[in-house]
Amino acid sequence: MTAGFATQTIFALASGAGRAGVAVIRVSGPEAGAILDELTGRDRPPARRAMRVRLRGAADEVLDDGLALWFPAPHSFTGEDVAELHLHGGRAVIAAVGEALTGLGARPAEPGEFTRRAFDNGKMDLTAAEGLADLVAAETAAQRRQALRQMDGALAALYDDWRERLVRAQAHFEAAIDFADEDLPPGVEAEVRGALAGLADVIAGHLADGHRGERLRDGVEVAIVGAPNVGKSSLLNRLARREAAIVSATAGTTRDVLEVHLDLGGYPVILADTAGLRAAAEEVEVEGIRRARARAARADLRLAVFDAAAGEPDAETRALLNGDTLVVMNKADLGAPALDRLDGRPVLGVSARTGEGMEALLAALEAEVARRFGEGGPAPSRLRYRVALEEAEGAIRRALATGEAELAAEDLRLAARAIGRITGRVDVEDLLDVIFRDFCIGK
Ligand code: GDP
Repeated sequence: MTAGFATQTIFALASGAGRAGVAVIRVSGPEAGAILDELTGRDRPPARRAMRVRLRGAADEVLDDGLALWFPAPHSFTGEDVAELHLHGGRAVIAAVGEALTGLGARPAEPGEFTRRAFDNGKMDLTAAEGLADLVAAETAAQRRQALRQMDGALAALYDDWRERLVRAQAHFEAAIDFADEDLPPGVEAEVRGALAGLADVIAGHLADGHRGERLRDGVEVAIVGAPNVGKSSLLNRLARREAAIVSATAGTTRDVLEVHLDLGGYPVILADTAGLRAAAEEVEVEGIRRARARAARADLRLAVFDAAAGEPDAETRALLNGDTLVVMNKADLGAPALDRLDGRPVLGVSARTGEGMEALLAALEAEVARRFGEGGPAPSRLRYRVALEEAEGAIRRALATGEAELAAEDLRLAARAIGRITGRVDVEDLLDVIFRDFCIGK
């Protein structure tokens, strides 16, 4: 096979690495069919049907007994000819078949190369490709649902529609420039302007979602804050159901920010224990406290913890109470009188030691997370989308503010281009390497 400038045939292990019952190797490119014929030494399987085959290497040695599938272009994942080999999942088998494939002219794929070819061949837009990457990485049910929806084209449909509307409005303004002397039907311009204002508002609404899509993808941040020794680390361990943080009876042991990832009713939650908030003498602790404050400030939700024996939170913790804070009274096992409400907020009494109140705390936290980040329509799941949408909205509003048709047309062109870059409908060459580099090999 000649590699050269033409598309090369690539292969990769599509299933997870390591010992397994079955391993899947995917081969894609112009030589995939010929390579498959050579490996099996028999007729090609009918399209998209599994056929039992013996794979042979150099000197006709049998390498494995498995299944082969043949997906002729363009009806394949990449849009190219694709052969799929289902082998026994042992390292030596995978290595031997890899060697045979290389001997037949295929080369190992780069990370994300299969998906990039699928994009290049118009099998999917960029949001679908990124949805696929998210689906492979999804750890909770809400992440899986969002990724699947995106892979199915929910975002692409929305963004393509907006882009088309912008292109039409741009055409209108261009017509107004070209036919300035002729009488264009009255009222049309007002109509176009009204539609554009409506679109800018829709985009603004889509952006004002409290970063729901990004949080579902990356995790909702919950910070545990409170004075030293109130039991924050113990609480984190309880919530994480394992010993993740060092619990110690000496004040100021949590010198850094510790996080655990939880699946809370299907929502991905990143729970962070922060160093006790207090005026610290020691330098390392000062840094820990600085990080704790920063973390608490940017967290989506906070658990403000105080010691039942103290009766109420210290002033500093109290100052953190806001609409995104759950008030937690720990060490309820010590027999201090329970506090039901604080500044009009419910107080959740728990004991990190006995586990008392933990279910109620988890339920309250889950309800808060669901209320803020629960599923609605498709939401922008990456910063890249958000930035482009903000740019588009700004350009539309500029177009509406100017009285010059030329300037308006140019702004609308910029807006359409910003949205087109999200899906990859317009020039995105510069973006592709960055996007697909994050994929794993075999995807
Ligand atoms: P942090 O500094 O806020 O992270 O507090 P730690 O989790 O390190 O706990 C400080 C001390 O309080 C340790 O000796 C814990 O064993 C104790 N402690 C934590 N939670 C409870 C609880 O619910 N009940 C009782 N009795 N002691 C607790």
